[in-house]
Amino acid sequence: MGRLLIIGCGGVAGVAIHKCCQNSKTFTEICIASRTKSKCDALKEKLEKTTDTVITTAQVDADNTEELIALIKKYQPDAVLNVALPYQDLTIMDACLACKVDYIDTANYEPEDTDDKEWRAIYEKRCKEEGFTAYFDYSWQWAYREKFKEAGITALLGSGFDPGVTSVFTAYALKHYFDEIETIDILDCNGGDHGYPFATNFNPEINLREVSANGSYWENGHWVETKPMEIKREYNFPQVGEKDMYLLHHEEIESLAKNVPGVKRIRFFMTFGQSYLTHMKCLENVGMLSTSPIEYEGREIVPIQFLKALLPDPASLGPRTVGKTNIGCIFTGKKDGKEKTIYIYNVCDHQECYKEVGSQAISYTTGVPAMIGAALVVDKVWDKDGVFNIEEFDPDPFMDMLNQYGLPWVVDENPQTVA
Ligand code: NDP
Repeated sequence: MGRLLIIGCGGVAGVAIHKCCQNSKTFTEICIASRTKSKCDALKEKLEKTTDTVITTAQVDADNTEELIALIKKYQPDAVLNVALPYQDLTIMDACLACKVDYIDTANYEPEDTDDKEWRAIYEKRCKEEGFTAYFDYSWQWAYREKFKEAGITALLGSGFDPGVTSVFTAYALKHYFDEIETIDILDCNGGDHGYPFATNFNPEINLREVSANGSYWENGHWVETKPMEIKREYNFPQVGEKDMYLLHHEEIESLAKNVPGVKRIRFFMTFGQSYLTHMKCLENVGMLSTSPIEYEGREIVPIQFLKALLPDPASLGPRTVGKTNIGCIFTGKKDGKEKTIYIYNVCDHQECYKEVGSQAISYTTGVPAMIGAALVVDKVWDKDGVFNIEEFDPDPFMDMLNQYGLPWVVDENPQTVA
């Protein structure tokens, strides 16, 4: 029995909200609060006849901590699920802290304005000290550890698929299959086709920032940075087939490097088709991926935000996307002194997701674990004071709920490895 405040009402939130409504035992009440209240109202109208969960809605600007505090005080939730954008992570954490309410998210903090001087000074120092140049990192949220601990509340970071399920797969592998994990390759394959020449599967701004950045991986205690898309591999994905995949920097590498004792190497690969890469390069070359504002006919516009307005809304891809995703992790290491390799993965079908909740598989594979993480926190199955990445909790109840709520997983004990 619990009451959840959900911030954001986009692609991922839509799935998480559907799934909360399938789990009315835990979520007796939810409040959907976002910038555009009409979207929250439309979803409430669609779902309320199908569920015992009592749904209310609210308008909130999640960049404004005071507004968030007022909403939390009024609604009195047991926890806040942040499925807005990574830009709002810190304001929402501040509000949770002020109201002593648990916090859950799916992506680590990154600033909306990467030209902000104060942020840039800290960022440039981090680039030098840590050796990776991504705009996002965990330092901002890990800095809240003591404050959350003192307040007696939980912050669960990264309860999506990657980070999220991939991190839970790691904790599960460590608990049940290995004495020591030596290498982790996280493979994110989208074998889906939406029929557009170019579109992104989740928020275009966040997606394009991530994919056009330098790649990096963790090896022997430090980061190795690569040029964007410099490292390419081919992999034959179960139920999807042979795909090209490219090494990217990804946020769970940062936390897994700290939380998996003795791990020697962690890499992250994502599949891209040639058409996606050619479009992206072209947009980048003409300056459309820039986050710095420019003057246009007397108005200031941010190129990547203008591009977002032109591209298909990821939430609208559901009806037209066919094919499957396959996301998982290949682990090598030792058990009882013997070398061992396993691959834990989930396969998700875009059209099946659409039939069930009206979304494509990328939103589905993120929204389901967002609900599961929130349920485990609300039900106090996961109950620790402080700020934690998801792999720091017992993976077993989460793995059970993945099977129960639409993301069944497979353990292959004799997989193809990545060169
Ligand atoms: P969308 O752009 O579809 O949705 C974002 C939502 O947040 C929109 O409803 C938007 O409102 C709302 N929002 C934005 N700014 C504010 C604000 N200031 N105040 C209140 N609401 C606001 O994004 P997605 O659903 O694709 O992504 C949601 C999150 O999930 C992101 O953080 C993304 O990084 C993360 N993600 C994580 C993955 C994982 O595996 N871990 C994978 C994919 C995504 P409006 O409708 O007005 O625009």
